[in-house]
Amino acid sequence: MRGSERSHLAVVGAGAAGLYTALCAAREGARVTLVSATPLAESSSWRAQGGLAAAISAQDSPERHLTDTIVAGRRCVRTSAARNLCEQAPAAVADLERLGVRFDTEGDGSLALGLEGGHSTRRIVHAGGAATGRRLVRSLTALVGEDPWIEVLERRRVTALLLAHDHCAGIQLEDGHEILTDATVLATGGAAALFSRTTNPPGATGGGLLLASQAGATLADLELVQFHPTALAASNGADGFLVTEAVRGEGALLLDAGGARFVDELAPRDEVARAVARQMALTGAASVGLDMRAVDPALFPNVASELRRAGIDPKHELVPVAPAAHYMMGGIATDLHGRASLPGLYAVGECACTGVHGANRLASNSLTECFVFGARAARAAVREPAAPVRSAASPQPPPSADSPPLRIESRQALWRYAGIERDAEGLQQLSEDPHSLVRLIARSALARAESRGAHQRRDCPSADPKLDGVHVTIGQDGEVGFAQWS
Ligand SMILES: Cc1cc2nc3c(=O)[nH]c(=O)nc-3n(C[C@H](O)[C@H](O)[C@H](O)COP(=O)(O)OP(=O)(O)OC[C@H]3O[C@@H](n4cnc5c(N)ncnc54)[C@H](O)[C@@H]3O)c2cc1C
Repeated sequence: MRGSERSHLAVVGAGAAGLYTALCAAREGARVTLVSATPLAESSSWRAQGGLAAAISAQDSPERHLTDTIVAGRRCVRTSAARNLCEQAPAAVADLERLGVRFDTEGDGSLALGLEGGHSTRRIVHAGGAATGRRLVRSLTALVGEDPWIEVLERRRVTALLLAHDHCAGIQLEDGHEILTDATVLATGGAAALFSRTTNPPGATGGGLLLASQAGATLADLELVQFHPTALAASNGADGFLVTEAVRGEGALLLDAGGARFVDELAPRDEVARAVARQMALTGAASVGLDMRAVDPALFPNVASELRRAGIDPKHELVPVAPAAHYMMGGIATDLHGRASLPGLYAVGECACTGVHGANRLASNSLTECFVFGARAARAAVREPAAPVRSAASPQPPPSADSPPLRIESRQALWRYAGIERDAEGLQQLSEDPHSLVRLIARSALARAESRGAHQRRDCPSADPKLDGVHVTIGQDGEVGFAQWS
């Protein structure tokens, strides 16, 4: 039986972005329904280690944070979005502290700040060493659970957005249950688990992007996928476990087979991942060595214990690491308030593409993005007028454009043909894949006939200045376009 109910706002996803958006919207007086497909520990937010970037120290400024973000993003960052991120990050951290999140502090009580690649100064706020994600998610979940304005539907999957007169008018759940809303916020996370080698939880396969696209919203920059240089290379279940960049901020080194350094460990991520991949290709080895022997394991207790569980003692031996798909810079195209191109639909966090990360995300800017843009989207979404529901016609899901289930063959093909280096021939093959998001990634990567940041084309090895600041878009009928955003 199809039941239906009404809520002012539905937030889909209970990672950092969804939890914080729900709390901010409830603070504004909205009735919120928060839907999450997976249990807590299965979001990327739960896994986040390093922390969140914010210009907090006396030596730092939002302007300096902005410069680092723009440099890392390889002339493709939407400056207006990055300016919002960097200027509002310190207030977001302060709000989280007010909400009860306990970040790590120095002896004098000031926030302890870590250093990561591409940052010109220490600005990473963290909790429990490298347990930032789980601390944040636990605190925010407890608050959401107690908030009388938020109804939580756990382990429930949204299978379609409801449309009324070209407006998003609500959501449909797996069991057919419908929730009609004035505004719907997708906070469904990234898509890096589409790749066979990934740091992401199994559910991070871009389901929210497909929901939005099937309802007619524009997607952007799907070809821009960040590869993390230091994911554990192990033959056991720990393969792909992320060893946070923050360990390199504390002095860990990357070593080749002969024990020599081959890259500046704190260069932006795209550079380091490429250097690691090149080393592996040169020697035929399946990994390079991460030397953490000089790093105090007490600074990163969960990393040290996870490595020990995998049979590696980081105090006495090198950690074998190799790149893995980590973060989707692209997603549902939004404005600076999280509005998608479909009226009534918003997107925040990793599933959104505000353009803030350009072609290469600066480390730890994504949790900050969840909070800064979560708050902005909540403020805009609670003011959304009700969707126009005329006559007797009730909101309907879009005509189904179902993608078959994701097969391991598609994941392996994505890694092979759209991994750290791609070319037109492999991407052409991939553009025939049965899975629609895999096809869209391939078509976007074909359209960006250049190399920039995380997107490296063997057959077009240089950046094309004509594509500076240009975003590759996927429109309503799947057509590929190019856009510049102010
Ligand atoms: C190992 C690892 C370490 C990282 N470390 C850092 C770091 O130190 N700093 C940093 O800034 N970033 C880091 N990142 C990236 C960052 O964690 C993510 O970008 C961010 O947490 C994404 O948050 P989110 O809320 O957008 O999505 P997620 O946290 O992935 O949450 C997505 C939610 O959506 C739900 N969902 C998805 N589809 C549906 C559906 N159809 N119906 C209902 N619910 C649905 C899921 O169940 C989940 O609750 C890391 C990522 C990983 C994987």
